Parts: sequence; structure tokens; C-alpha cells
Amino acid sequence: MVRHAPVSSTVTNAAKIDIKSLRFDELQEKLNQLQAPSYRAGQLTDWLYKKRARSFDEMTDLPQSLRAQLAAQFSFDKIDVVRLLGSSDTTQKFLFRLGDGSLIESVLIPASSALYGMRSDRRTICISTQVGCAYGCKFCASGLDGFSRNLRANEIVDQIIAVERESGGKIDNIVFMGMGEPLANFDNLMRAISIINAPWGLGIGARHITLSTSGLAPQIRELAEKPLQIRLAVSLHGATDEVRNQIMPINRRYNIEKLLEACDYYVAQKKQRITFEYILIENINDSADQAHALAKHAQRLKAKVNLIPYNTVEGLPWSRPSRNRQETFLSILREHGVAATLRREKGHDIQAACGQLRLQTKKVEQASSLLAS
Ligand code: SAH
Ligand code: SF4
Repeated sequence: MVRHAPVSSTVTNAAKIDIKSLRFDELQEKLNQLQAPSYRAGQLTDWLYKKRARSFDEMTDLPQSLRAQLAAQFSFDKIDVVRLLGSSDTTQKFLFRLGDGSLIESVLIPASSALYGMRSDRRTICISTQVGCAYGCKFCASGLDGFSRNLRANEIVDQIIAVERESGGKIDNIVFMGMGEPLANFDNLMRAISIINAPWGLGIGARHITLSTSGLAPQIRELAEKPLQIRLAVSLHGATDEVRNQIMPINRRYNIEKLLEACDYYVAQKKQRITFEYILIENINDSADQAHALAKHAQRLKAKVNLIPYNTVEGLPWSRPSRNRQETFLSILREHGVAATLRREKGHDIQAACGQLRLQTKKVEQASSLLAS
């Protein structure tokens, strides 16, 4: 049986675009070119995003010839779960292997967990947007090993599909807080979000999608101009340039004022509140002066502040301040009338889980090779 139309030997899977990287209009156009009726686009997206087919062969109500044509032009990449850590009632970490062997991790946070200091009754997934990260924040495990590559749109979308499949339940909240800097992979991210958000795709509302950035000011402005009501979280972690420069190299390119101006623009365009994430690191950014300065920035933007006690990363010298000091920092923000939360629960190190993907991945890899030897 011929399953694929003849493909030039020079065309490999790596050269093909994955079918799950295309928007509806692009699929329609492609089907037009193949002289297929336009209703096929709906059938195709049903197979991809509703029935979650894993190959063109499964799409039994598409003519065999069309399936072969599609298979000749598009790849149907898989992401394989290589390890699953945690249990169904706690945070679960999924380690995936991509087509080229790269490892990435996604984190599933069950409903009713403590999420970024607030209780959430939604099933949330924290997903990666890059393999590694080029931004080298001094406290973060993801940047420790540098940057490898951007994830393609389908690799972003596939994390959600694979986690739903593995965990057997629908995901209704997405945070781009995994490995990588989402706004540095802007085009693929936008493409992935449009698929995640669309009724023909995964159908997850924009208001249930949060993107966290280390502060790429031009891309924050670009995002502000997109007709998308996704939520924005900004990793501030330092309230003055002096402190932020020490821990986040990006601040030398876009200092706090440039970043806040971009945030002003975002808030004005979207009429939406943003969130400042602020990791508390002992003797680095946890002084009363920093709290007062942070309160000023939050007031200017009417932003919420999520305080996150730092999670130690092996090999890095930083640690979290005492509980007392964390509470003092929080109370200063509240005295200024800022809506602030401090994550207090133990055992729900979601942020860290997401920020430490690379490190955990490496450990798992090492553990696997130990097991194999
Ligand atoms: N690159 C983006 C998104 C990924 S990081 C960003 O920086 O915002 C997601 C969040 O985890 C960021 O706020 C990041 O600063 C935080 N994070 C990184 N390492 C951490 C650690 N060791 N403990 C607590 N939070 C951490
Ligand atoms: Fe990259 Fe974000 Fe980690 Fe900074 S905090 S190194 S931007 S993943």
C-alpha cells in the first residue's frame, strides 16, 4: 500500500513544516492548492486538535490520496514522554524528547493548588518556549547552560496535547513560565498561541494564558499591539537598576525605566493589569528600600506583585530570606496599597520547577544513563 506520495530524497522531515504549526487560513490555502474542498480544513483540525490524531493515517474520513499529499508536504512530529515525576494529585513534571533529541520539560499543576501565591481551581500547565535560555539571569537554572534553540510552534502546542493525553484531563490554564524567554521566540509563540486559543484549535481562552518575560521591552510593545488579551507577567526581581543589573543581564539593554515604559504602553493598550514577579533572594533584593521602590513601580502601573521565595539551585550561591524578612517585604508593599501575594505553601515549588527545567532535565539524563549502565 502506498502511504506517502513520492517525496524528493532531499526533502527530509527536518525540512518539512509540521502540520500543527499551521493556522486555519493557512491550512485552507494549502488544501485549496491541493484542490481539496474547503470543508476539509475543518475535518483536518478536528483530527489534529479534537480527536488528537497522531498520524495522517488515522484521519480516516480524508481521502487516502489527500492524506498522502499532506504527508508528503508536512511532517507530523511526535514528542515522547521520557519521564514523569510526581503524582496525579501533586505537581507533575513531564520530561519530553523532541524530534531532534532535545529534552524539554512541562509542569502540570493540579486544580486547587497554590499557584503563584493564589489558589487556583484550574488545571494549569507551565510550558517551555526554548531549549535553554540566552538571557543568563544569575539565579536561574534554565540559563546556566546557555541557549540551544527556539521551539517551533507545534512543539509548544504539543506539550499541552501530550500532557492532556498522559494525565487524562483537560487543561484550562496555561503559563509560559517554563524554560526559555517566550518573547525571544516571538513568531513561533504567536503562532502557537493562535492555535491554542482558536475554537478550531485547543480552545483555551486568552485570559487563561499568561506569559512571563524577563523584560524584552520592544517585544512587550509588539505584544501590546496584537489583538490578544493574554495576561502578562514581568520578572522584575530588582526594583532599582543597581540591583537588577547584578542579577539580570537584560537590564543593561532595557533598564527599569525602559521596561516600565513598555509596560505602561501594554497596560494602556490592553486595559489590563499586569503582574510583577519578584523572587526574594537573601541580601540581594530583599531590603526595605527595594520594597519601597517596588511599591512605587507597582503603583505607577497598578500592577499586582507576586513575591516568590527563591528556590535554591544547585551550584548557585543564592538563598531565600527568612520567613520574617519575606513577611516584612510583603507588609511594606501592602502599606503602600499594592496588591501583593507571597507564596507560603511548602511543596508547591511551581515557579522553581519551571525555572529549573534544564537542571532537572540534566539530572534526570544523568540518572537515566546511570540506570542504563
Ligand atoms: N524567561 C521568562 C519565563 C521563564 S522563568 C522569565 O524570566 O520571566 C519563569 C519564572 O521563574 C521567572 O519569574 C523566573 O525569574 C523564575 N525563576 C527562575 N529561577 C527561579 C528560582 N530558582 N526560584 C524561584 N523562581 C525562579
Ligand atoms: Fe531565561 Fe527567564 Fe531564566 Fe532569565 S529567568 S535565564 S530569562 S528563563
